Amino acid sequence: MDLSHRDLAFDEIECSGHRWCLHCERTYERGKCRNKDGLQMCPYLDCDGDAVIDALDWAKIRSHHLEYPEFPEFGTRYPMYG
Ligand SMILES: [Zn+2]
Repeated sequence: MDLSHRDLAFDEIECSGHRWCLHCERTYERGKCRNKDGLQMCPYLDCDGDAVIDALDWAKIRSHHLEYPEFPEFGTRYPMYG
């Protein structure tokens, strides 16, 4: 196995493929965002979160909440605290 393949595998573990929005505490697929005035915004229409600044990787949230699913449901709130 060469090194580049090992790096790729490691990246897949680190990144869940989902993002978690700090503003509305909901999740969406990585790369799914809303364009507003050239900014990348959270895809939920009632949220004014920024998809770059206000989003965390889902894997990071799950490291604090082991009970959360590996594949979060779109539209479901997953609070960071409580
Ligand atoms: Zn949001």
